Order: sequence, then C-alpha cells, then structure tokens
Amino acid sequence: RSAIGIVGGGQLGRMLAMAAARLDYRVVVLDPAADSPAGEVAYRQIVAAYDDPAALDELADATEVVTYEFENVPVAAAERLAARKPVFPPPAALEAAQDRLTEKRFLARCGIATARFEAVDDQTGLEAALSAFAGRGILKTRRMGYDGKGQRRFAGPDDSPHGVFEAMGGVPLILEETVTFAREISVIAARGRDGETVAYEPAENVHENGILRRSVVPAAIDAETRKNAITAAESILEALDYVGVIGVEFFVLDDGTVIANEIAPRVHNSGHWTEAACVVSQFEMHMRAVAGLPLAAPMRHSDCTMENLLGDEVERLPALAREPNAFVHLYGKETARAGRKMGHVTWLGGAGKRN
Ligand code: ATP
Ligand code: MG
Ligand code: MG
Repeated sequence: RSAIGIVGGGQLGRMLAMAAARLDYRVVVLDPAADSPAGEVAYRQIVAAYDDPAALDELADATEVVTYEFENVPVAAAERLAARKPVFPPPAALEAAQDRLTEKRFLARCGIATARFEAVDDQTGLEAALSAFAGRGILKTRRMGYDGKGQRRFAGPDDSPHGVFEAMGGVPLILEETVTFAREISVIAARGRDGETVAYEPAENVHENGILRRSVVPAAIDAETRKNAITAAESILEALDYVGVIGVEFFVLDDGTVIANEIAPRVHNSGHWTEAACVVSQFEMHMRAVAGLPLAAPMRHSDCTMENLLGDEVERLPALAREPNAFVHLYGKETARAGRKMGHVTWLGGAGKRN
C-alpha cells in the first residue's frame, strides 16, 4: 500500500486523511502538536515543526508523494520535500498565495480582476494609501492572516490611521479598496497530474466577523457569472501547473462582475459541503489528484447549506443528530475557544428543510 504525506495536522488534514484511508492509502502527517486533529485519524504522525529538516526528510522517505493542508508551509520546507518526492500542489502555488501582494500581482498576470490595492510598508505609506482611497479600505497583513485576523477596516476620512502601522505589528501590509459586493462566492476546482481540470458548483458564502458562517449551494448567480468564476479558477490552475484542489474566493458585484478576493492552494472550508452532497468530495478529489488517480466528475446529488460549528456551537451535536438531513462532521478539537472552527454541518436539500 502506498503512503501519502500531509504537512499540517488541522481539520483539513484530518478530512484529507479520512478520504485517503478510504482509498487504502496510508497517510503520514507532520505537525508539531502531538494531539493534532489529523494525527488522530492518520496512519502515523511525525511530531515536529514544519521546518524541521530531519522531520521533513523522514516524511519524504516514508511516503510516495507529499501534499499540505495549509498555505503557510514554509516554501523552503516544501522545496526540501520536493528534492526527495513529488510535492503537490507545486511549491510555486504556496509562493503565489502566501503573500497578499504577490497573490494580487499573480491574479493580474492571469487576467483576473481584484480589488484595487496599495502596498503599505510604514506609517507614512499607510497615510498616503488611505488618502488615495478617500480614507476607506481594508488594511491586511500581507502574510499569515486567516479568518479575518490581521485586518483593520477604515470606514472613511474620520477614521484615523494614527499608530495603526505599529499596532498591526510593524509588518508589511496591503490596503485594499472596500468592495461593495452583492454576494461572495467561491469555486473549488481541481487539476490532475495529467492536466485534466474539474470545478464544483460555486458556493455562496456568508461571513460573520471575518469567519465563514455558511456556504449555500448553488449560489444565486446567473450563468455568465458562474462561467466567469469557473474560467478564472481554471486559468489559475493552468498558470501554476497545479495538481490538487484549489479554493478561489470571489466578490460578485451587483452587475454580476466577479472580482477575485484570494486563493487557497488547498481544500477549502467553503467546499466542505461536497462530502455530503457529492459522490466524490473535495478531500477525495485532492487525494486522487495528488496520488495520480483519475479525477472524479464534480457532480452533486443535492443542493445544500453548510454551516460551520464555531466555539461552543459544537454542543448542538445531540440535537443535530436527530435531524434526518444533517450531515455532521466534528474535528476532534478539545478547546472550544470562541470562533474556533470545531466542526460543520451540511443540511441537504436546502436551508435546514426536511426532505
Ligand atoms: P480566510 O482565509 O479565512 O478566508 P482571510 O483572513 O484570508 O480569511 P479575507 O478573505 O481576505 O480574510 O477576508 C475575510 C472577509 O472579509 C471576506 O470574505 C470578505 O467578507 C471581507 N473582505 C475582505 N476583503 C475585502 C474587501 N477588499 N472588500 C470588501 N470586503 C472584504
Ligand atoms: Mg485567506
Ligand atoms: Mg478569505
């Protein structure tokens, strides 16, 4: 039986490991936390830092191919792995996605529209960028942000940027224009080792406090918007000579125009619904791509709504278990910090309706 390595032991790694196990792959996870969600279901876990050279070599030597479940894997670590075993998605995809400035420039090279932006390297630069945007915008750390962390909104000229550069850690930032969108959608797409691409039906995503609250499938978009979003995702896959699943987030304007927000070179929270509503989930699709198996048709058998279970919402489990159309998936995390993603539930057949 062949083995697949996963760098990162969070819930995405856990769901990848579960999908791979179903296809008889042995999954070896690398994560510094001995009790990682993925380690608990994997064949084996190497407990070490993501940039530990000996651990990376051990992971590569124990497996035929290596993937990752988060985009902040150090590029040097991915390259060290790639010197021994194939690494998918390619390390170049990490570089494109780890830094919001690089990411936006990459999207522009693909011919994909993004929000207007300015790089911000100090307090003076912040003030200049804000005045170029009439005092309005979203300031983000270029690296390491997720779930809306590392962001600061400016509502207008009365919102003072005084001291904000230091308050955000004195690290490189990007100011984005605040997009007035009608809705947000995402495309979960995949590319196989042979270059075949597939895309699931776009999901419509609702965020609260910067965190994904729910994804509804299908999104309320017209055929043209749907096609433009899928085409954009496919052109990103081609540009990166990508292998695996990617998540691409978009803003949709009132007139249907799609504007890319960000890309995630991995399985994506807004694709969790695929495990309940599709024959082959994004997790299996990713492992198929990485392992060199044929991709599957991205068919869905149901419309659905996926809801994240955040913090103590995980305590809804006994009640959810009584619902006939609720597909529940918990991540095995011990501490239910407020806002922490503890699990999700996919309601099949519409927004919480019984079939
Ligand atoms: P994650 O990786 O968990 O999706 P993140 O921390 O990388 O989140 P973003 O996707 O950049 O954050 O932003 C989170 C949410 O904030 C977006 O989904 C959107 O709702 C809102 N947002 C971000 N940037 C903009 C923008 N330029 N204009 C309007 N809304 C925005
Ligand atoms: Mg992000
Ligand atoms: Mg996002």
